[in-house]
Amino acid sequence: MANLILPPSLDGSDKIRLLRDAAADDIADANELTHDELADLETIRAPKSPPTVPKLGISNDCIFNCSYCSCRAGLECRQRYTATPREMAEMAVQAAKSNPTLGVFLTSGICKNADYTEELIVETLRIMRRDLRYTGYIHAKIMPGADPDLIEQAGWLADRLSVNIELPHSDGYSVIAKQKNKTNILTPMEAISRKIRDHTGEFNASGRRFARSGQTTQMIVGAMKENDRTTMTLSGALYRKYRLRRVYYSPFHLPRTHFDFFPEKNTPSWRTRRLYQADRLMQLYGFTVEDLLPESAPNLPYDLDPKAAWALRHLDQFPVEVNTADYETLLRVPGIGVTYAKRIIQARRLHTLTHELLRKIGVSLKRSRYFITCNGKYTGGRLLDSPSLRPVISDIGAQTKLFGWEDANAS
Ligand code: SF4
Repeated sequence: MANLILPPSLDGSDKIRLLRDAAADDIADANELTHDELADLETIRAPKSPPTVPKLGISNDCIFNCSYCSCRAGLECRQRYTATPREMAEMAVQAAKSNPTLGVFLTSGICKNADYTEELIVETLRIMRRDLRYTGYIHAKIMPGADPDLIEQAGWLADRLSVNIELPHSDGYSVIAKQKNKTNILTPMEAISRKIRDHTGEFNASGRRFARSGQTTQMIVGAMKENDRTTMTLSGALYRKYRLRRVYYSPFHLPRTHFDFFPEKNTPSWRTRRLYQADRLMQLYGFTVEDLLPESAPNLPYDLDPKAAWALRHLDQFPVEVNTADYETLLRVPGIGVTYAKRIIQARRLHTLTHELLRKIGVSLKRSRYFITCNGKYTGGRLLDSPSLRPVISDIGAQTKLFGWEDANAS
């Protein structure tokens, strides 16, 4: 176990700040349901970021040297620390109590080696659950290359586990994160996936299921100058192969040290928000990478959500008649999401749908009217075949209002 603890000269808030700084680059979502319920693209508007869970890092004394990371070994000017599991557990429970519905996220730099660090995390989890009787949500990080036995222990104590895939292409590890590789990341990911499957339906003595909120991962966007097609191709493969609950997309930020291999600018956050939209469209709406990011358009546009961009590339499939279109076809109409596609299917069992009736059941016609007919009637004017349609169906106004989007060219 660690014998170095947080510097005793620090007061409580300084300690918490240190622990939070060490976890700042990780994305952690709240309890499993909140995010998936944001499935409706018409309401999701791509969240600015997943709901913020208090995040704490057990150690920032990392032996790895990932170029993008503020905890990397090569960076001199940080106050290094490693917390003891007891100290960490007490602070984590305290942090979790500040918003009990969100829970807490535990991560760490790699202190000494992956197994040593994972032991610290497991021991922290044990103290939280057994000594401090914390029963709320915990998302715990699994270190690259961690021993499967430690993954087993972590899974019975935490609700969600994650290993960060970090880069959208394995070629990047040898340049940007030299101590990481495909094997030490995918092996624990595979182990978590297998254990979740093998332990399905089992409960431990405390009545807990193994990683009941499943597995997630996180990818840095833009560090390798990759396009969105590459990112979403990997994302789709990870969902399929490891049955991930979520892939998180984190915009690349230029590190303090200059490295020639990095792009010249930060990744704008609008890009990751578009990726979140594409992600939901692939996981919940039946879109494929080829639909959203064909070779001819390998990046998501700034001014359109990915579904609207797809619709503009497939105008031959519109307008669709809402009284007869099947559910999957309705889901492809810009402006109609899961909720309203279901409402349409229900309502038309009783009535022939008109534009007026659509309004009454809550369907917004602002964008959808250009892509539908109601009992043969079309109210989109002449816009469907016109270049003027693009600005009309752009969601930039809504996004700017909601999230203060940057200009497309801003870094
Ligand atoms: S392993 Fe890499 S990304 Fe993780 S804390 Fe260490 S330097 Fe940072």
